Amino acid sequence: MPDFESTDELLKAISQLEPQARQLEPDRHQRSAWLMDLQQNTDAFIGTLDQGKAYHRFNDLESILHLHPETDPCQSLAQVLDDLKKGMLQKGLNPASGGHLGYIPGGGIYGGVLGDYLAALYNQYAGIYYGGPGAVKIENEILRWLNRWMGYPDGSLGNLTSGGSMANLIAIVTAREAFEIKSKEIAQCCIYLTQQAHHCIHKAIRIAGLGEAQLRTIPTDHRFKMNPEALHSQIESDCSMGLKPFLLVGSAGTTDTGAIDPLEALGEICQKYRIWFHVDAAYGGFFNKSQLKNPDQTTVQDSFKGISLSDSMAIDPHKGLFLSYGLGAVLIKDVKAMYQAHYYRAAYMQDTLHAQEELSPADLSPELTKHFRGLRLWIPLKLYGIKPFLANLDEKILLCRYFYWEVQKLGFETGPYPETSVCIYRYVPSAGDANAFNQAIIDKVLDDGRVFISSTTLDGTFWIRLAVLSFRTHLQTIKICLTLLENAVKSLKT
Ligand SMILES: *Cc1c(COP(=O)(O)O)cnc(C)c1O
Repeated sequence: MPDFESTDELLKAISQLEPQARQLEPDRHQRSAWLMDLQQNTDAFIGTLDQGKAYHRFNDLESILHLHPETDPCQSLAQVLDDLKKGMLQKGLNPASGGHLGYIPGGGIYGGVLGDYLAALYNQYAGIYYGGPGAVKIENEILRWLNRWMGYPDGSLGNLTSGGSMANLIAIVTAREAFEIKSKEIAQCCIYLTQQAHHCIHKAIRIAGLGEAQLRTIPTDHRFKMNPEALHSQIESDCSMGLKPFLLVGSAGTTDTGAIDPLEALGEICQKYRIWFHVDAAYGGFFNKSQLKNPDQTTVQDSFKGISLSDSMAIDPHKGLFLSYGLGAVLIKDVKAMYQAHYYRAAYMQDTLHAQEELSPADLSPELTKHFRGLRLWIPLKLYGIKPFLANLDEKILLCRYFYWEVQKLGFETGPYPETSVCIYRYVPSAGDANAFNQAIIDKVLDDGRVFISSTTLDGTFWIRLAVLSFRTHLQTIKICLTLLENAVKSLKT
């Protein structure tokens, strides 16, 4: 007993600490009071989304958000919520607003919020089957459902990730493992993509240790889709130089314009040359059931033909299924390679080998302990089924098309006809710098703040983007956006 004189002394010290330690378990009355505060606060938040702003201009954040828990006085939950409102909610972008029409929105459906609440409260261990068989089963069932949705065969699996970036990384690491690429071979390996590939693909290639591979940027057509003939001849030329075609990254819905690469043609080329075919469908994947007709009488679904030829795919429920930020998915056919790339064994984990009816997420991703993120999708699917999701997806495509036609009536030039729910457009003034003029239009729209729009640059040309994917975006929002654009042009021209 080196630290204490006697067992009694030790027990005394323990009993002195216990009441303070127990403060972290609020009693029933405290919980009810907090839940009431939360409900009041969140009801008010949701209630004002319709009228409120999607964007608040901001300068420096106030001292409200400083943190010094050693010396700060304790606050009531009501006070904390009030500070969050002032210091956080009324600054910058409001991604919960249906007026969020920039980047790639999603919204954050309430059923998913309940899933997160329960995931945090039950705190089930979704990393390993032995510890959380129900939780792991739920996550794997979601993955099997997503695999079916995308047309992957039975036996495919994957992982629920924090988002598309992690999903793409896991896929690329798995491809590296499946092809058993050794470090000395990396410089001979060729990776094919287009300029429209999301930047997280480049990040993933670097993190996966493949930064020295030969990156081949394949030309795109006028709709920003990969040109399969150009891909084919690039592969031929690489082969003739003794290089090894390794990985093709196609897009099913690019972030810039929503374009879908010709997946069937790409898939066939990959089969012919034995290339790992990865599809980044983080944004667009969930549109692949849409039966809406395109002007050429094909359907939206037709554009996805061939997606199931891919070996792996990234898809983001926090975009196309309208969940709060923090849920992506990677789907992979070659589960063995995925396992090979990520599993581990440790002495202190030996008990886990006793239960292996389901593969464990920890063996298929870099994570061990993780957020039980599947529950936020499970709960809404159980509550609503799939129909309202499909209705939202079709509605978003149609809203984007409506915008595409209407914005032209205001004198704007548009990019290609929107293949999914992104439209690029710009105003070309009769005199002066068009890029600066369009930046000024965005600034005017953001000054109002009811909608948030963002921009991009394609082949040196500045474009404004409209991305419709929040479940809270409806016709009224698009009309407000059009009015703001019209007013902006009017005021900038005078
Ligand atoms: C959003 C997006 C990503 C990145 O996903 P995160 O969830 O933001 O990590 C990757 N690819 C595409 C096409 C995207 O739209």
